Amino acid sequence: MSFVITTPLYYVNDKPHLGSIYTTIVCDAIARYKRLLGKEVIFITGVDEHGLKIQRTANEKGVDPQTHCNNITNIFNDNWKDWDITYDKFIRTSSNLHESIVSEFYARVKKSDDIYMGVQKGWYCVGCEEFKDNPENSSTYKCPIHQKNLEWRNEENLFFRLSKYQKQIEEIINKPTFIEPKERRNEIINFVAKGLKDFSISRTNVSWGIPVPGIDNHTFYVWFDALLGYVSALSLNEKENSLKKSINAGWPPDIHLIGKDILRFHAVYWPAMLISAGFELPKTVFGHGFLTREGQKMGKSLGNVLDPKVLLSKYGRDPVRWYLIKDISLGNDGDFQNKRFVDIINNDLANTIGNLLNRTSSMSRKWFKNKVPKDVKITRNSELAYLSKVTVDKYINNFNAYKLDLASRDILNLAIKTNLYLNDKQPWILIKNESNIPLVKEIIYNVLESTRIIGLLLLPLLPELSAKIDAQLGFIYKKEVLWKNQLEWGVLNQDSELPNPIPIINKLEYE
Ligand SMILES: [Zn+2]
Repeated sequence: MSFVITTPLYYVNDKPHLGSIYTTIVCDAIARYKRLLGKEVIFITGVDEHGLKIQRTANEKGVDPQTHCNNITNIFNDNWKDWDITYDKFIRTSSNLHESIVSEFYARVKKSDDIYMGVQKGWYCVGCEEFKDNPENSSTYKCPIHQKNLEWRNEENLFFRLSKYQKQIEEIINKPTFIEPKERRNEIINFVAKGLKDFSISRTNVSWGIPVPGIDNHTFYVWFDALLGYVSALSLNEKENSLKKSINAGWPPDIHLIGKDILRFHAVYWPAMLISAGFELPKTVFGHGFLTREGQKMGKSLGNVLDPKVLLSKYGRDPVRWYLIKDISLGNDGDFQNKRFVDIINNDLANTIGNLLNRTSSMSRKWFKNKVPKDVKITRNSELAYLSKVTVDKYINNFNAYKLDLASRDILNLAIKTNLYLNDKQPWILIKNESNIPLVKEIIYNVLESTRIIGLLLLPLLPELSAKIDAQLGFIYKKEVLWKNQLEWGVLNQDSELPNPIPIINKLEYE
């Protein structure tokens, strides 16, 4: 069974922002982790390209929608390369493959008698591509997310019988792992308790969309189309694409990681659509929080948008990954603060992990001919061996529960405690007396070994830093050997060469 993880399919009205980088980095870390456990992973990302908003954005730019989508999609692709994101499938909803999947899915839903023609009246936010529930003073009301006036709609639309699935959806969302985190689950439970209304799945005024088979002038509502991108993605690279191919290729996903603003679509509409079409449901829908900057909401009008490209060129991938993963508990809102960023990178990566590595490898080189000490008896119940075992267990439990911030802290704690061990043992004093040499060898080996384990645990989170730690220890991580086996105590070869120490992470300065 493959482990299937998805980012949202990003809307191509604009280039990637810090929020999309955040979601994708978290997915990337989870995907890398699962691969290390020996699992077959299908990591899906892509772009959501249809809808009125895209049609209008393209018009404003004076290009046709497809050209606009191609341009933005290229930016997304380049961006994921720059961030070294290890996705397996990149789906575009303007592709022919996707169109045929949508038609086939629609036919199944229709067969379940879940589609009817009705009239949709209401106030619509084009930014959200969503009807808003009876706002007061609707003509002057602005969407709180987009700060734009709503538009009145009164048109013939196809509807999906969501109301029919009230009981089933209630059961699903009450399952403890379907919606994460818990606070989000309660929001959705409250929403569903008010009673589900059928929702429209077609539009008559939008030409930039997938045509509804057999009905002139109707295109599919962008959300009906976009959610199905997760299904199409699994058919990518198959000779022929079909729902059956997608199901066989790995449906259902283990986790949809999304922003909390689109949780309702994923946790209510989507499961009902899937049940209607005879599909299994995703195991978990995880709604993460929003990112602010220095405590303020980021927005174009506020002029405080943090450009991820600037962050990347200034600091590189790993520091940004560490901050976003370690400092934000997945599910909570997060804040990007420059001072805090600098402090965290300097304290955690440079002073704690980097310093531990450098001072130990320097001592070992100085006292043991540029090598890891030899003739050391490996004891798995020694202080650091025990500590590292406990750390690995905790880390794995936390990672499995998508608590990546806690898994990061587990690594950091091991580094802090290893530093304390070294300070406590004071090998630089012991070495002055020749009779202490066997003991010094043991101490140094233990610290080097603990550092090696720290490096391996960093692998899914900070792949570059992890490789640098390996190199500094003269250790070669073997892809063909299970990662977990290499986390065992005593794997570091005694008497192996230690290269000249170089700083593995640069200290940052305040802006
Ligand atoms: Zn809106």
